[in-house]
Amino acid sequence: MKSVVVTGSTSGIGLAIATAFAESGANVLINGFGDRDEIEAIRAGLDGLGSGRVLYHPADMTKPEEIGDLIETAVEEFDGVDVLVNNAGIQHVEKIEDFPVDKWDRIIAINLSSSFHTIRAAIPHMKRKGFGRIINVASAHGLVASPFKSAYVAAKHGIMGLTKTVALEIAENGITANAICPGYVLTPLVEKQIPDTARARGISEAEVKSDVMLKFQPTKEFVAVEEVAAIALFLASDAAKSINGTHISVDGGWTAQ
Ligand code: NAD
Repeated sequence: MKSVVVTGSTSGIGLAIATAFAESGANVLINGFGDRDEIEAIRAGLDGLGSGRVLYHPADMTKPEEIGDLIETAVEEFDGVDVLVNNAGIQHVEKIEDFPVDKWDRIIAINLSSSFHTIRAAIPHMKRKGFGRIINVASAHGLVASPFKSAYVAAKHGIMGLTKTVALEIAENGITANAICPGYVLTPLVEKQIPDTARARGISEAEVKSDVMLKFQPTKEFVAVEEVAAIALFLASDAAKSINGTHISVDGGWTAQ
């Protein structure tokens, strides 16, 4: 039975990935912020989906020692980490000259450095088993930029470099490291950006959806969280064992332009 850790899985894409793995019968350690009762309801709901156990760990992805404890908990409870999904992420939309320094630091910590800490802690356990799958939820913004998202784009480009470097280091150990690059997915993270982007660009919220977000997504549709989760399941499968150090875009054609 696979042991899966998904950071930032109390909401959005991470929750969909945790759901897909729980349904597949894996043991899943979920993580993220939120109301404790709501998180317990999520955990209990996931726990009933398959034959594996689902546990919750409250590690804050800005705190390396808590991240270390997240990985150790998976190792103790599930005898290892077979699949590590680095998904936790936040956003802030503002012109670079007004971009708050604390927001920059927080985005780099959560969207980039937390993956260094999880990967660093998980790899010895993956090597012990001769199997591992590292799946980094990057973004189309790991490949191309948009204005007013300096920290996010920098962090997501960084995670692409981290993915490739790790892939080269662990290729002979039965471990792979890859990124998923979604386009716009309508999750709480995106919904929160709509008013900020409207303010930054001086346009309406409806125009943000149609003229900014979906402007570059040729399908003119948001990606569904389940589509991203399906790619994560595939990357964790034996069929994907030779896919290493690369990314799969789920962006309706955005980055083909
Ligand atoms: P979301 O806001 O719905 O979920 C983010 C999750 O991360 C939540 O569970 C939240 O509690 C958790 N989180 C935030 N800060 C944390 C911290 N310090 N420690 C632990 N957990 C923390 O967002 P989402 O849209 O599902 O985004 C998930 C990932 O997908 C992010 O990395 C994001 O950059 C990426 N992504 C999203 C989109 C999109 O359009 N929604 C597109 C491309 C990539």
